[in-house]
Amino acid sequence: MECGGNFTPAPTGIRGVRDNRGVGQGLLARRRFGFGESNLHETTSPSPLIVPRSKHRISRADISEHALKVLYRLKDGGYQAYLVGGGVRDLLLGREPKDFDVATDATPEQVRKVFRNCRLIGRRFRLAHVHFGREIIEVATFRGGGQDEDADGGHHIHKGMIVRDNCYGTREEDALRRDFSVNGLYYNIADFSVIDYAGGLDDLRAGRLRLIGDDPEQRYREDPVRMLRAVRFACKLGFNIDSSCERPLFELGHLLRDIPPARLFEEVLKLLQTGLGLCAFEKLRHYRLFAQLFPTTDALLDHEDHNFPITFVSRGLENTDRRIREEQPVTPAFLFAVLLWEPVRRRFTQLLAGDMAANEAMLLAAGDACARQRSLVAIPKRLVLPMREIWSLQPRLERREGKRPHRLLAHPRFRAAYDFLLLRAEAGEVDSALADWWTRFQAANSQTQAEMTAGTTKGRRRRRRAAIEKEMAGT
Ligand code: ATP
Ligand code: MG
Repeated sequence: MECGGNFTPAPTGIRGVRDNRGVGQGLLARRRFGFGESNLHETTSPSPLIVPRSKHRISRADISEHALKVLYRLKDGGYQAYLVGGGVRDLLLGREPKDFDVATDATPEQVRKVFRNCRLIGRRFRLAHVHFGREIIEVATFRGGGQDEDADGGHHIHKGMIVRDNCYGTREEDALRRDFSVNGLYYNIADFSVIDYAGGLDDLRAGRLRLIGDDPEQRYREDPVRMLRAVRFACKLGFNIDSSCERPLFELGHLLRDIPPARLFEEVLKLLQTGLGLCAFEKLRHYRLFAQLFPTTDALLDHEDHNFPITFVSRGLENTDRRIREEQPVTPAFLFAVLLWEPVRRRFTQLLAGDMAANEAMLLAAGDACARQRSLVAIPKRLVLPMREIWSLQPRLERREGKRPHRLLAHPRFRAAYDFLLLRAEAGEVDSALADWWTRFQAANSQTQAEMTAGTTKGRRRRRRAAIEKEMAGT
């Protein structure tokens, strides 16, 4: 083992797996990659596959200068330092990594001593964040496999789920505690080799997502968010989820109920607002995971609206994906307004039919939808206000006479509400003539605008109400 002497070797629950699988997969990868034995240097148990610099494509030129700085400073401080996770995976695939994570045998406190620009964060996982302006390099100390239920630190398991994980370990143990084999690869700054304990290289080649270890269900139970990560990486990388890891996805969705809603909010953003929204949504629905996150929306999506499937959410996500591709701004408030619109719209229509005023009905419908969602995926308060505004502007966009359209145009949330209306029109939920009217109105000169907004007041109130009811009911 190449481990520094700072740690108490922790007992590992998956040693057998490591020996069987890590070594076996390593040999397989070696054959597929055509590495000759002489190129390999194997350490003692468990034997990782070590690919020297000359046999892989990772170049320091593709690694952020800040990540390199962190790696070299740790190395010069006498510690082990590796690039790990998505950074290594993406570089090996020839993709640009989203961020760079570092693993080391230095404890968080030791890391802090090496870097002035460093903050320690996290309770569940204690990590060091090294700040370089806007870039943050996350430095994690090797995790071990200890299962002691101690008061502070350690690897704390509750109902099969890891609730705290501060038991430090060796590089080998750290590798086997990671989620997917393709995320368990290490790039060693000491000799620029890539180290593979779990068959990650082989899986990268095959385009396969496979949880490390021989009991996928247990790995999902330890941390149910791994189910969402499976979906995310399958979409992001275009990989297939290995059948052994796919099967439990249909069964274990309910475990997401044990995850803090704030963490699920972050995961939902990563799933739906990073350019792979539509793919992730379809897979989440397929594995019945979406129902765990947005049960009310999910239930409504199973219904048809006047014999048409409800496509609003898919179109909203497609639209978000396109905006991201075109480097246009996207806001989480818009995304969540899309995700919760169906329950809001249904409730609003019911309340209107019960003779409630439109403003009040929208307030109530929005409040209901947000309150019901809160215990599952925590939408931060700062998003709730803009979401409510987007929704409550929808019936107001129906009113096209007099000064109202001008006032709406000046509303800070007009643009988002208009985009939302376009989406509703695209999904066939609202008459596209209304969306077209607003498109023309914005582009028109003041004389045309005046003509467009000239209307009689007689019977307007009654007509407006009837129109709103009709539009919101999707007829
Ligand atoms: P990306 O940053 O591209 O989204 P990533 O694989 O780097 O993907 P991160 O969330 O940045 O994902 O995590 C970094 C690494 O930490 C992962 O590659 C994986 O090795 C490990 N990891 C993250 N979350 C988990 C988890 N829930 N269980 C086990 N290992 C995890
Ligand atoms: Mg990462």
